Amino acid sequence: MSRIDPAALAQALRAGERRALAQAITLVESSRPQDRPVADALLTTLAPHTGKAVRLGISGVPGVGKSTFIEALGLHLVGRGHRLGVLAVDPSSQRTGGSILGDKTRMELLSREPAAFIRPSPAGGNLGGVASRTRESLLLCEAAGYDVVIVETVGVGQSETAVAGMVDCFLLLQLPNAGDELQALKKGVVELADLVVINKADINPQAAALAKSQFEVALHLLRPTSPNWSPPVLSCSALRQEGIAQVWDTVMRFHAALSGSGELADKRAHQALSWLWTLIGDALQQGFRSHPAVAAAMDEVTQAVIAGRLTPAAACRQLMRLYRPAD
Ligand code: GDP
Repeated sequence: MSRIDPAALAQALRAGERRALAQAITLVESSRPQDRPVADALLTTLAPHTGKAVRLGISGVPGVGKSTFIEALGLHLVGRGHRLGVLAVDPSSQRTGGSILGDKTRMELLSREPAAFIRPSPAGGNLGGVASRTRESLLLCEAAGYDVVIVETVGVGQSETAVAGMVDCFLLLQLPNAGDELQALKKGVVELADLVVINKADINPQAAALAKSQFEVALHLLRPTSPNWSPPVLSCSALRQEGIAQVWDTVMRFHAALSGSGELADKRAHQALSWLWTLIGDALQQGFRSHPAVAAAMDEVTQAVIAGRLTPAAACRQLMRLYRPAD
């Protein structure tokens, strides 16, 4: 059994003890089976205290300036009396290096702020697992009284979809490069964006203005993410801390538009249900794969599918007949 007392931990976390929040996140990230019931008990105790933060997702390719931007935005928020949690989803990260937030030199100023809590991505594992643990950490930050939670992700792969599925507002950071909007469109990531921000506008303001108008055209062609909102395009310089207040004001306008119409509550309910079904899908698939009769037949059946001797549909029926879930 885990030695952590969930009630005591919940109390310390609610009292604003940073160590308690860090310990709680470590608990929900743990892959030790004996920790899961304790983590569940903790999350259930804290559930009534969640949901009050502005949940902001931030994505962009490596080098676009995510950490510089989050630091600038974070300092702006802390200066206005907010308490900020920063989390990350990076399935490729390892505790020993590579993590997008693991590097101590990132967000050096922000990390020294008592009102900011920065946590690197949970290490390793598949995207589903990493995303699920980050969702739970987000709830823990809310229960600890952080009223803004930023979830950062790298602009490669499927992690953007996962993050868009756990935040209220999804912000896409872009470089002022002509043609980038086509890349982003092709990848389907612009469709997720509630807000596009062209960073590094200080380097070449003209290029930034051009990129801004190109993105405006691109966004105009897409279906808006909400009936109450058309995604705007802003530009900023994270390095010089210019344009940051405007970005935050826009996030606030977005939040007000969605809260006022009731859409925010619907969106969060939909996200929670879709998370539930993802977890159910994962659990069922795990049970299926580890079922002895299924596992014994799997190799032969998959070989037959690869060789074209068996259709995937017929193979599925064959395996399903072997699968007898325990009552
Ligand atoms: P990340 O990989 O997306 O987190 O990007 P970083 O925040 O580490 O930034 C990558 C590089 O771009 C660093 O050298 C930053 O100093 C620089 N950078 C970030 N934002 C700006 C900006 O607004 N203007 C300029 N000129 N450089 C920037």
